[in-house]
Amino acid sequence: MSINTSYAVLLRKIRFRNTSNIIDILTDNRGRVSLIAKGARREKSEFFGCIDYCSLLEMVYIDKPESMGVLTGCDISDYYSGIHASGLRLGAGMLFVRLLREFAESREAEEGLFSVCRAFFSCLDSCEEDRVSETYISYVCALLEKAGFRPDCSCCSVCGINAAESPSMVFDPEEIQIVCPKCLCEKKEKKYLELSAKTCIIIQNMQNAEPADACKPGAHDVQEVERFFLAFAGSVLGKDLHSLSMRAYHSIAEVGTL
Ligand SMILES: [Zn+2]
Repeated sequence: MSINTSYAVLLRKIRFRNTSNIIDILTDNRGRVSLIAKGARREKSEFFGCIDYCSLLEMVYIDKPESMGVLTGCDISDYYSGIHASGLRLGAGMLFVRLLREFAESREAEEGLFSVCRAFFSCLDSCEEDRVSETYISYVCALLEKAGFRPDCSCCSVCGINAAESPSMVFDPEEIQIVCPKCLCEKKEKKYLELSAKTCIIIQNMQNAEPADACKPGAHDVQEVERFFLAFAGSVLGKDLHSLSMRAYHSIAEVGTL
């Protein structure tokens, strides 16, 4: 049992008994941690209104390796008012948290994942609304890389032909590989994702750029790129992640259910 102080982002918050919450946080120094926030739903609690998504939190807690820890202090280090002032930015932030939750499964979750999330919030906080999707997907790309996945769409993973010499490439989610159409062994029930030559180039540029650059004007249209990254992330995690698409989120925003 030890007392720790960490910067953290909230991954999940669940009601516990009448007045408490159980929270999962991703920290800068202890990986993913589960804590009980006693009395956090009481209006008089020092935690009330403090433990929120898409903010940078500074938390003090008693860590117990074999059981759930106990939160003893929480301050909002950065609220990111720009994120919370916009339904679209907040939506992107929440989608990112959901993806982060999937990748930061274990207690040993890498500190790098926390850093990517913090950088994303900071960038999202001030980005123009019409750059939210690009910013989101660039940081999804960065998150994947920090988690150890850098999909290579520069050439076919079977015959090695350069993507520039093929009219398109194909992502095979079952084999988790990118191949040229000639090397694709098609089976009926299998689902594939076609990647145009343009999409392959955007993906490579994104992998080689700083993710923060995506909030600058002139960045590319990323719908197909987003579809690919979410399909890829879904394949490595064995989950269907297409609901984490900003495109899907836009349509919710349009019908005014935010
Ligand atoms: Zn090939």
